[in-house]
Amino acid sequence: MDFNELNGKIKSCTNCRLHKSRINSITGEGNYNAEIMIIAQAPGETEDREGKMFIGPSGIIFDRLLQNAEIQRDNIYITNLIKCYLPKCRRPSKNEIEQCSAYLDQEIEIIDPQIIVTLGFHATRYIFKKYKLNRPPKNEYKNLFGKQSYVKNKIIFPVRHPTALLFNPDKEELLQENYNKIMKLLP
Ligand code: SF4
Repeated sequence: MDFNELNGKIKSCTNCRLHKSRINSITGEGNYNAEIMIIAQAPGETEDREGKMFIGPSGIIFDRLLQNAEIQRDNIYITNLIKCYLPKCRRPSKNEIEQCSAYLDQEIEIIDPQIIVTLGFHATRYIFKKYKLNRPPKNEYKNLFGKQSYVKNKIIFPVRHPTALLFNPDKEELLQENYNKIMKLLP
């Protein structure tokens, strides 16, 4: 399957109830030959309305973190675990993750990145499960942020989601340190 076909399927997907409330399902964006793939949780309200990834308030923070880490958005591939807006930015359900993650699996297969950066709890938990890495109790996932794991031919690198800074701006230095590490992980 190529990206034309995959993105067409995502755009017209009705596999879970989120299709009823979304305006746009959001496909991944960026470089299809990227060595770095970043996986966020789900589109926000602005992204849902405009049909693009990371353009709302957390997108502004995300761009700043990338820029300071000298990562060009054009050189990486960014996507979401869940492709449709979760009303009131609620957590994704088990069923929604099960239904939607098949698209993410296909993106990983096509891009075959060297580094997978997961943003926040849900994307991290999904990728840890996919690659059969040890998963800690929910309240200990924060201990994984900023630490790399090696699996097959990939590095898995969880960091906090940029949205965290909307609620805890004092964590910016910590997040920036983690984002700065991403480029250094490349072989
Ligand atoms: S969230 Fe995923 S599975 Fe659900 S309708 Fe959107 S694209 Fe389909």
